[in-house]
Amino acid sequence: MIQIKNYINGTLVDAISNQRLNNIAPATGKVYSQLPDSDERDVAAATQAAKNAFSIWSSLSAEKRGDYLTQISKKILEKLEFFAQAESMDSGKPLWLAKQTDIPRAASNFKFFGTGIQHFASESHYMEETAINYTLRRPIGVAGCISPWNLPLYLFTWKIAPALAAGNTVVAKPSELTPLTAFYLSEICIEVGLPAGVLNIVHGLGAKVGTAIVKHPEIPVISFTGGTKTGEEIARTAGPMFKKLSLELGGKNPYIVFNDATLEDAVNTAIRASFTNQGQICLCGSRLFVQRDIYETFKNEYLKKVKALRVGNPADDKNFMGALVSKQHLEKIESYVQLAKEEGGIILTGGNRIQFPGELSEGYFYQPTVIEGLSFQCRTNQEEIFGPVVTIQPFDTEEEVIEYANSTSYGLASSIWTNDVKRAHRVAEKIKTGIVWINCWMLRDLRTPFGGMKSSGVGREGGWEALRFFTEPKNVCIKL
Ligand code: NDP
Repeated sequence: MIQIKNYINGTLVDAISNQRLNNIAPATGKVYSQLPDSDERDVAAATQAAKNAFSIWSSLSAEKRGDYLTQISKKILEKLEFFAQAESMDSGKPLWLAKQTDIPRAASNFKFFGTGIQHFASESHYMEETAINYTLRRPIGVAGCISPWNLPLYLFTWKIAPALAAGNTVVAKPSELTPLTAFYLSEICIEVGLPAGVLNIVHGLGAKVGTAIVKHPEIPVISFTGGTKTGEEIARTAGPMFKKLSLELGGKNPYIVFNDATLEDAVNTAIRASFTNQGQICLCGSRLFVQRDIYETFKNEYLKKVKALRVGNPADDKNFMGALVSKQHLEKIESYVQLAKEEGGIILTGGNRIQFPGELSEGYFYQPTVIEGLSFQCRTNQEEIFGPVVTIQPFDTEEEVIEYANSTSYGLASSIWTNDVKRAHRVAEKIKTGIVWINCWMLRDLRTPFGGMKSSGVGREGGWEALRFFTEPKNVCIKL
């Protein structure tokens, strides 16, 4: 049984309560590790350590801080296989995906911000013969970073790396469902000699640890990725305390295929956009809209490929999909498929849990599911399901599909397929999402602003946006 520990003030410790939570491997449904059931006392200790470390860390040169982050990046890559296996076991995601995407990206996050901070500059504003203003950008203090279970180390480090690079110290909480790679990251921080208290990782429940971070008066900046409802709760607490907030929340992303699209590419990418990581990526295209004259052709090609997708043991590279993250999440998916049927949806393929024999018999597996015949306004098409369930629907005109796409309260990402450049620009401009992909999906450049509109969040991550978020600008005006 792996015993996960908190990382506070440079050392690995148990929760002050000495209580532990069980951690389940989604593919087997079996407990394989335990994590500290921390509470506000552990958060207070972590915050104190982070406060103490702030003056040293923030006064290091950007180059020196960057060196630490680059070393962490290298160590993650050296242990890629080990980290990927841990991530796959902890989250149920296929090992090949953790190897190809999650772990390399976690390493890139550290390298990207560790080098980026050395090029970060602030503005100056010259007033003709009167004055010169310059903007001083300094780290804020202790940053609170809270991340979800779907891309555990990938999203955890996407927050921690820019916060540290900018000179803040950090109190961070990974999801209680997927704590393992964050624990291994703390071991790497010790190995590279990151000064004590610079990064603190507190494990445990959102309701205890997450809330304690958000409420702590000495944590003035919070970066959160997770569900929209949790984001609302965080905003309610942090708003009146005037904390700086970055909220990356849910999505219900449209995937739009016009009749002049390159069909084969649109179909192949739709498979990835629908079912990568069992559909548990905030960017997944869960509403497919296809122009009517190619609808049947697209649908048949798409369904053929969906039916051929293999689901099973995440350790077997032949499986495209592994297990869903938890029993509770599996039940949520089942309830949404039931709702879709009640709303008049026709299940074209999937729609059931998969029961494997042997060691996977208690695992949380679900078939890739495609549903037709629903109105764009029904709950199935408006609420985030966050699983291997997509709906497909025809449309006639550009105006109509823009209305469908923009009809939800979310506005995270969209994917548009067309070979008409003018149409691509026109539709991209009218779609209310923070990210628009044209003839692609999840093609990421870490310099670009990342985040959503409407209920999908507040603020942007990535590149200079992240470094600006984690610094406080101060204008200094000098009269000439
Ligand atoms: P949750 O909102 O349930 O949890 C996210 C994190 O917040 C977890 O660490 C959780 O801890 C913690 N938490 C829970 N309650 C509170 C609270 N009251 N105060 C502070 N922290 C709390 O999201 P999920 O983990 O279920 O992740 C899935 C969601 O994340 C989806 O909606 C998805 O769209 C969204 N997401 C958004 C992304 C984006 O970039 N926009 C990217 C990836 C996911 P615990 O796990 O212990 O409950």
